[in-house]
Amino acid sequence: MALTLDELFDRVQKPARYTGGELNSVVKDKSKVNVRFAFCFPDLYEVGMSHLGMKILYGLKNAVEDFWCERVFAPDTDMEALMRENGIPLFALESRDPVREFDFVGFTLQYEMCYTTILNMLDLAGIPLRADQRGEDMPLVIAGGPCACNPEPLADFFDIFILGEGEEVNLELMTLYREHKQQGYDKQRFLKAAAQLEGVYVPAFYEVSYHEDGRVQAITPIGGVPATVRKRVIRDMDTAYYPEAFVVPFIDIVHDRAMSEIFRGCIRGCRFCQAGFIYRPVREKSVETIDRQSRCLCETSGYEEFSLSSLSTSDYTHLEELLTQLLSWAEEQHTNISVPSLRVDGFSEELANRLNVLRRNGLTFAPEAGTQRLRDTINKNLTEDEILETARRAFSGGWTSVKLYFMMGLPTETAEDIVGINTLGQKIVNCFYQNPNKPKGKGVTVSVSVSCFVPKPFTPFQWEPQDTLAQLEEKQRLLRESVTTKKVSLSWHDAKTSYLEAVLARGDRRLGAVLEEAFRRGFNLDAWSEHFDFDAWMDIFRNQGLNPDFYACRRREEDEVFPWDHIDVGVTKAFLWAENQRAHEGVTTPHCRQECSHCGAACFKGGVCVERR
Ligand code: SF4
Repeated sequence: MALTLDELFDRVQKPARYTGGELNSVVKDKSKVNVRFAFCFPDLYEVGMSHLGMKILYGLKNAVEDFWCERVFAPDTDMEALMRENGIPLFALESRDPVREFDFVGFTLQYEMCYTTILNMLDLAGIPLRADQRGEDMPLVIAGGPCACNPEPLADFFDIFILGEGEEVNLELMTLYREHKQQGYDKQRFLKAAAQLEGVYVPAFYEVSYHEDGRVQAITPIGGVPATVRKRVIRDMDTAYYPEAFVVPFIDIVHDRAMSEIFRGCIRGCRFCQAGFIYRPVREKSVETIDRQSRCLCETSGYEEFSLSSLSTSDYTHLEELLTQLLSWAEEQHTNISVPSLRVDGFSEELANRLNVLRRNGLTFAPEAGTQRLRDTINKNLTEDEILETARRAFSGGWTSVKLYFMMGLPTETAEDIVGINTLGQKIVNCFYQNPNKPKGKGVTVSVSVSCFVPKPFTPFQWEPQDTLAQLEEKQRLLRESVTTKKVSLSWHDAKTSYLEAVLARGDRRLGAVLEEAFRRGFNLDAWSEHFDFDAWMDIFRNQGLNPDFYACRRREEDEVFPWDHIDVGVTKAFLWAENQRAHEGVTTPHCRQECSHCGAACFKGGVCVERR
């Protein structure tokens, strides 16, 4: 006899991933709800529950009386096997209702390696994978998040992609749906109307043609939809919705603390960084807003730790004032403030000491490249002197460990740049031992973490080839051999995962067949190394007659039509190309507060672009 859902909980690891019922989770009376939204995070509960975007959109939708948003996470393999064995479809945590009964099933696309998990979740829900196989009785399957800026590999599976920031457009879409439902819902009619909303991309209304060699020839809108779809931006962060409470998990999650978002976007223009371009322009919250929201979250959620969230916290223009304000009550309440993503050049001694009042967090810096020449190429406006000076200050403030993030495989990189990674790590070790006030009996650890560069859409490096696997492996060997001290510890990301990430990041619609075959072969949770089978992926590409090097390792011409050219993130292709050329000339570009480089994001009429005038 089949087991019930409750009976499964005794048989799986960490049942609290699936039970729901956490503090601040929202349960509504179904009879009073008009639109139901299943917010799906295509990874395990512990990862998804740490995601700020999900917390914001969950609270935002549930603040509307007749909308109900529930959470759905990918079950781990033990739970999934039992669900399939006992005929239990994918369900939402709050109501435990099957996801296929909802109006919207919405996925967040945080990283490319979760694409097979999405297909697996749809299948577990009993929802046909391809949009054209789903009738009127099926939910609308939609997605948003950073990877939606090139949604093409997933185009066959989704009805709608939401581009840019979701607060306003999600509510507009759900309101439109409510109207259509009240008037007699017709999927095609609804999709046509939805495609007229700014930030809503309906892939079925765009036809893609290809050259014989596989490059995209043209992307043609059909049926009167806009030729390009512009992302949405929240102009005023002080009046934007922010949750007053977070759902508090019963089990440990990756980031188990309150989070205060302090600004969106980034003033820098690191040429490898997709987030730095797709979230432009920078828009800050005021000190008062951050203070109020932080206090409120700590009170309603009972957290004794909160972090300040942004792409580059030390670029917040009133950081000292903010920290003084936050520390004035956090210290009293024994609440720890964690400040990640600090740039070394924005890290003053006073600030270091002030944060040290509560707890000594490990210091993390991201020089990204081992030599000044390469840092200039990638526009990481940071000198070796600044890095070493910050390390000296940190050591004199009592820190004994430093974590450094680098990339290998960057455009124009040479052996000298690779060896430079170790040289910089060693210089930081020397700084520690030259510090006259170093703590007695303590040594220093400099952890160097090296990832492989993945060229991404909407960056100046979107034209660049990724290094081949053989090149990356050779560079890893060179770096390993350059390290001669135990004070510098090395770790790196798997080059094979980065290769597949590069294929999917700049992929086109033809990759839909690859993803579908990967799902049919049982691929799932590929972001977890124990589930990732590189050779099997390569076998699928062969089967489908597609060469993954075409996507990952090919240099593009300036005028190539990209699969994402009909998506408009504000920053223009002409600006990105000019930045690409400057990279090859080794010329840096000033950040937005030094000088406007006219990237195109001023079209959103907000944030730093307006402040400058
Ligand atoms: S338009 Fe100028 S100020 Fe605005 S984001 Fe672009 S470079 Fe920065």
